[in-house]
Amino acid sequence: MHGVRNSHPNLAGIVPYDPKYLPAKQYLSANENPSNVPEEVQLEIRKALKGFPFNRYPDPLGNELRDLIAEANGLSRENVLLGNGGDELLFNLALTWGGPGRTFLNVPPTFSVYEANARLTGTKVVNVPRKENFDIDEEAVLARMAEGDIDFAVITSPNNPTGKMANETFLRKLLDSSDALIMVDEAYFEFSRFSMRPYLDQYENLVILRTFSKAFSLAGVRMGYLLANASVIREFLKVRQPYSVDSVSQAIATAVYRNRSLFVPGINQIIEQRGVLLEELGKMPGVTVFDSDSNYVLFRVADADEIWRGLYDRGVLIRDFSHSQYLENCLRVSVGSPEENQVFLGALAEILNERS
Ligand SMILES: *Cc1c(COP(=O)(O)O)cnc(C)c1O
Repeated sequence: MHGVRNSHPNLAGIVPYDPKYLPAKQYLSANENPSNVPEEVQLEIRKALKGFPFNRYPDPLGNELRDLIAEANGLSRENVLLGNGGDELLFNLALTWGGPGRTFLNVPPTFSVYEANARLTGTKVVNVPRKENFDIDEEAVLARMAEGDIDFAVITSPNNPTGKMANETFLRKLLDSSDALIMVDEAYFEFSRFSMRPYLDQYENLVILRTFSKAFSLAGVRMGYLLANASVIREFLKVRQPYSVDSVSQAIATAVYRNRSLFVPGINQIIEQRGVLLEELGKMPGVTVFDSDSNYVLFRVADADEIWRGLYDRGVLIRDFSHSQYLENCLRVSVGSPEENQVFLGALAEILNERS
């Protein structure tokens, strides 16, 4: 066969993202909402798609949805940017504030996409690892910021996969520490009910990321958004693919957002069920459970990969982080429906029992 020259050197050693989404009976691996979009909203979506102009290009910026989100957050259109899932906006972050000669501060263990995007764009990565209990090493982060060379940082609150929110006082200190762009990834803020939104008026260097994939049951549709000051949004506009957010996704997400109050009971149930998982996991011998403000729970157990396999053999798919750096023997279970959570807890108890 005729050969091909090497791809970009930044790609050497990069492993494509693999969510390890395998066929299962109980899907508790991807932090999805266990409930589909409510039936009445689905009806509205079907109506919106009747006679839909599929042949026409979408409104590039999705201004109808943009205005809805702005209004709900007490902002204006210029402060909101839609993306093809939060993931696209994370990629755009690396394109706007990263690149060769630029530096990104990361606090692992956290969402692996940040570091992957930085490497892809030739951005230098400075990792300031979390403490043993996965709290941010606040003094170490602030000390590193003080060196003055950091161009941007991402703080995930609540953090994925470890579960806890970042401390508000720390986030303010971080924003004050330099003029680096600080992204607070609030993909799960509906489950923690804390947002940095009030600080946008005060800090030009704050950008907030949100998504429709978790609380709003739209992981399959791909819709995320940024909240930031207009000067920051303008920079993101420069790198954005003009039509990355298609018109069908815009219509679906608009119907969902208009009806977002219908999702509140489901969110409340997830928060309640998170308590059940935390309590029951906490009682299991040999299991160390980490507190969570989100819709998933991280726990540590000996021989985690074998435990993961035992659960999978029983039809329960959770996420295995046991071979990830800083997460030795850690597994993450998404909060499912009450029934799914009981199946998971029963299967785990059975496996632990058999092994003791
Ligand atoms: C799920 C998630 C996102 C965004 O996901 P999308 O489906 O691309 O919107 C962003 N950050 C974190 C930490 C997440 O877990």
